[in-house]
Amino acid sequence: MTELHSMQDGFVLNNGVKNPCVGFGTYKTADGSDTEVLKMAIKAGYRYFDTASFYGTEAFLGESIREMGIPREELFLTSKLWKTEMGYHETKQAFEETLKNLGTDYLDLYLIHWPLPEDGYQDWKKLDIDTWRAMEELYRDGKVRAIGVSNFLPYHIENLLENCEVRPAVNQIEFHPGYTQEFTVRYCQEQDILVQAWSPIGRSSLLNHPMLMEMAERYGVSVAQLCIRYALQRNVVPLPKSSAMERMKQNQDVFGFEIGREDMLRLGSMAQTGWSGLHPDGGSVRSASK
Ligand code: NAP
Repeated sequence: MTELHSMQDGFVLNNGVKNPCVGFGTYKTADGSDTEVLKMAIKAGYRYFDTASFYGTEAFLGESIREMGIPREELFLTSKLWKTEMGYHETKQAFEETLKNLGTDYLDLYLIHWPLPEDGYQDWKKLDIDTWRAMEELYRDGKVRAIGVSNFLPYHIENLLENCEVRPAVNQIEFHPGYTQEFTVRYCQEQDILVQAWSPIGRSSLLNHPMLMEMAERYGVSVAQLCIRYALQRNVVPLPKSSAMERMKQNQDVFGFEIGREDMLRLGSMAQTGWSGLHPDGGSVRSASK
């Protein structure tokens, strides 16, 4: 495991950029014009934010950062290109819109949100390559410090690797105890692609799991902290979301304990639980709406 002692530490991406070790997830943090939660997260100490054009939180995040007077260089900002924005020209346009929403002139990380624009889409290989070509240009122009993907399976990544000049630095996937996507994680780590965890605490569906509760109690932490720490010990970047100051702070307090080997093995091989039902190839148990 990479040595991590605080939120200021991070993982080095395959292009040398440092990706801080814990980010704040902004999906469903800003209803209407409410920047309260985002400003609270900044007050709680978060400087690394994970947003996406699809979330509708970019502009509220930009506003919160401005109002709180946080210098741009202290921040690590990730956003994502939505399914309807894929394609060479569309990507360039969507990126400019994202910058405008955030009120910044560069991103730290820009990701393709999903490999396919819709379930069963046949021409995804060409669409992904065209989209990636635009991402590479944004990267070369210095408008984004690193580029990557989200919800890509190994064969989606291979399509890019076979055709790209800049390798993806990141793959952001659903990852938590009970759904660790071992095959994809192993592939990415072998390829030097950093894995980031969305829904690292299973969107709170894991909080009452008996084994996790027992384990968390032994370490004197909450189940959420156990899940966040689990990701870190797997060299995976957790992006927890919370709307309460106490839990925002708790989710950063994950450097004072270490999960033992037997527990790590148990967490990595427990029965599937808490899966969102979303799968990159579609055919999910629920429709792939996010
Ligand atoms: P999550 O972070 O696993 O779970 C959030 C839920 O856990 C909220 O209901 C929150 O409640 C609760 N919670 C947080 N900390 C807690 C604690 N310490 N104790 C008890 N409950 C706690 O799920 P998520 O929001 O789905 O995922 C996180 C981020 O990943 C998103 O915000 C987004 O940035 C990203 N994401 C990306 C994708 C993708 O396709 N790339 C998909 C989904 C999500 P409270 O708010 O009440 O604290």
